[in-house]
Amino acid sequence: MRRLVHARPSLQHLLGGAATLAMVGLAAVACQHAEAVQQLEEDAKKTASAANNASSGSGGASSAQTSGPSTTGSSTTGDPGLPSGESFMKATETELTMDFTGDPVVDGENRMSCADTAYGDTYYSDPADLAEAQALLGQMTIDQKVVQLTGIGAPNYEDSNRWEDIQRSYDDEALNIRGYQWRDGPHGLNLESGLGRDALPENYSTSFPTSVAQGATFDLDVVYRVAGAIADETVASGNMVLLGPCMNILRHPYWGRAQETFGEDTFHLGRIATAFTLGLQQFITGCAKHYLGNNIENQRFYVSANMDEQTLREVYGRHFEMVVRDGGVGCIMASYNRVNGLKSTQNKHTLTTMLREDMGFKGFVLTDWWAMPGAGDGQGPINPPADLLTAAEAIQAGLDVEVPWALNYDALPALVADGTIDESLVNRAVLRVLEQKLRFNSAYLDEPIALKQPTTTYDSASGSVRNTEAHAALSTEMAEKAAVLLRNEDGVLPIREATTVAVIGAKINYSVPSDNPPDKVFDFARDVALGDRGSSRVRPNPALTVGPLAGITAEAPEGVTVTAGETAAEAAAADYAVVIVGLTAGDEGEEYTGASDRQNLSLGEIQDKLVSDVVAARAGKPTVVVVEAGSVVDMPWLDQVDAVFMAWYPGQTAGTALGRLLFGKTNFGGRLPVTWPASEEQLPVFNEGDSTQMDYFLGYRRFDELGLVPLFSFGYGLSYSTFRYERLHVPCGDISQHGIIQVEVDVRNTSEVAGDEVVTVYASYPGTQARRSKKELKGFHRVHLEPGQGKRVSIPIRVQDLKYWNDPSGWAIDSTVTLQVGPATDPTLLAQDVTIQ
Ligand code: BGC
Repeated sequence: MRRLVHARPSLQHLLGGAATLAMVGLAAVACQHAEAVQQLEEDAKKTASAANNASSGSGGASSAQTSGPSTTGSSTTGDPGLPSGESFMKATETELTMDFTGDPVVDGENRMSCADTAYGDTYYSDPADLAEAQALLGQMTIDQKVVQLTGIGAPNYEDSNRWEDIQRSYDDEALNIRGYQWRDGPHGLNLESGLGRDALPENYSTSFPTSVAQGATFDLDVVYRVAGAIADETVASGNMVLLGPCMNILRHPYWGRAQETFGEDTFHLGRIATAFTLGLQQFITGCAKHYLGNNIENQRFYVSANMDEQTLREVYGRHFEMVVRDGGVGCIMASYNRVNGLKSTQNKHTLTTMLREDMGFKGFVLTDWWAMPGAGDGQGPINPPADLLTAAEAIQAGLDVEVPWALNYDALPALVADGTIDESLVNRAVLRVLEQKLRFNSAYLDEPIALKQPTTTYDSASGSVRNTEAHAALSTEMAEKAAVLLRNEDGVLPIREATTVAVIGAKINYSVPSDNPPDKVFDFARDVALGDRGSSRVRPNPALTVGPLAGITAEAPEGVTVTAGETAAEAAAADYAVVIVGLTAGDEGEEYTGASDRQNLSLGEIQDKLVSDVVAARAGKPTVVVVEAGSVVDMPWLDQVDAVFMAWYPGQTAGTALGRLLFGKTNFGGRLPVTWPASEEQLPVFNEGDSTQMDYFLGYRRFDELGLVPLFSFGYGLSYSTFRYERLHVPCGDISQHGIIQVEVDVRNTSEVAGDEVVTVYASYPGTQARRSKKELKGFHRVHLEPGQGKRVSIPIRVQDLKYWNDPSGWAIDSTVTLQVGPATDPTLLAQDVTIQ
């Protein structure tokens, strides 16, 4: 029974906020043409109309910003996934007709003076939801309010199964308000954990490639679609919050959960996490985690991430601002660790000053599981006066919900009763929770739980999601798009003119103490590498999984025989040897699994020796290595082998993707979302103990700053195709501070093979007086090009994304910016300056 009724916002309303704002922007743009170049005029008109068509309703740049030769009027915007409403973060594509030969041109003609483009906060907040939440709040006792702000009550500490019931909060039957059912993410729905799950025979859902693989796609559309599929399964199984995206900065590859985040760069993370959130929030509430500075697994409950204010705002906070402003995420998870000495759950500076006042977050903040203080890493009882102090500190700081047990927030009524805190603080938190429940249609016990009904179904007897075949196919697409080709000597890949292929992999014993049974064997040639066994674990339906041997066999052309083995001798005779190496869930993973952080980057002697032995046994015949891991690994045999690609943890249909890539049925287009060091000496100190200094420069920015040469740079990745850059045009010669620059770059596939190219835009700031990186990623787009095809890619760069934190006065923007544009593998190919007014 619904107590108050109002019209729900349409999906379009939810997703289209940006469209509306950006379209207002179309009218507001006031670019004045510089002198036209006569010979380009005709073509410029054509292009302008094409670009305008491509962006109409999608809020692209003013058509007046687009000029240049050789384009047709046909829009090939593609990207059916991410709605065009989010266009300011989405590039557009226009087909080129005329071929261009010679060196690429930086087109300095037709540059304009560009004014503001109205875009803004896309955070959706419906006043009707707030009014409804207020009416509900008005009917609540203080105890009912605490129900909204906690998981379940303190457990019975005698009960050895108490860890099972940690995925829900209580219903309020008197007010007909539904409790939450949360589920992990982020690479699929974790149905294994939760009350009674052990008794269920299956707990299957789709296991997609892990987050780092999603980051490697540099493809917002596929990320959006995968997140939508995860949300679909979340709803089907009766859950209403997905605990993702996980968007921690990958500061160092030792971090045990490296696989769970999208990469090292704050801008890239912010964009990918935003696409993920928009995908999820078509259905349900997303919960961006872990806020903030959580990138060490050992001592995660108390380690302090220390950093100066510029680093905090610009590096460790900035991507959360993007997922708030551009993604409108409904929930943020406060991490376990401390930031500059203060627990993230009780840190007013991060939770209120930054998150609410600066970033404009309007959802609710919940703790990571047991992140608030309690005996024994937060899970034991916490008694007065400690709980009173902690609860007061947290609610004042801006923490809304304690999960999974009410160990501290059960003290809220006493704090209100004795006047330590004002009840308005409790009310504020309850309103935030209720507003999000209403926003995502999950508030009432007698109503559906999401904005959209799922395509999958749930079988409660087995505990599994069914009808997931389409999602398995999507997982294959993601795995293919994520794979990064690192080496391909003499074009040995794709495999051709072979009649025999040997798939070789070691069988590695490993242990995951949190699993039952803990001891396992991983067969690299046959098993599907799904990643760690912590909170993000996902158990796929075995009938829909495809291991390497099965997949490579199924994808092999007629006449090719595929064999499997685990020794060099078994690889000796084959025309091609494919050696699969990597890490197991015993090597890297979440802290409680026992795997935790890595100690070094080695794959271990068994696997390194296997690769060298295979090469030695093959007398010069091609050897290809496939790496399955969460981040970079040492490859002491790199120079000996012919080809290597990074598959990450490629999801439940890994084998199909590997087979299709190896035989050239699809092309490599993934790019590294991390810098691959030449040696461990190039990396910063990972963990300094109870507190660790988080430097301003990290990842490629650190390599640039120190002049270090990595083995493979951020953005690196080879292709079976070759691409040529023909022209760069940055239409705004100068622009005001709230403008959007539509950077145009013409790129052509100069090969006989269809392929995807990743175009990147980096900013650098000549003449800056501030501490700034040599270059910073500010835009990217993955474009598909048929053989010979050329496209003009228009990548929107928001001037506000160029800001830096000028402590203590606040955000500032440098007056001159150089935009460097080129392939992700060679990002400084072309450059043009813009003056910021
Ligand atoms: C993890 C979170 C996860 C939560 C709930 C914690 O251990 O750090 O990422 O969402 O558990 O399972």
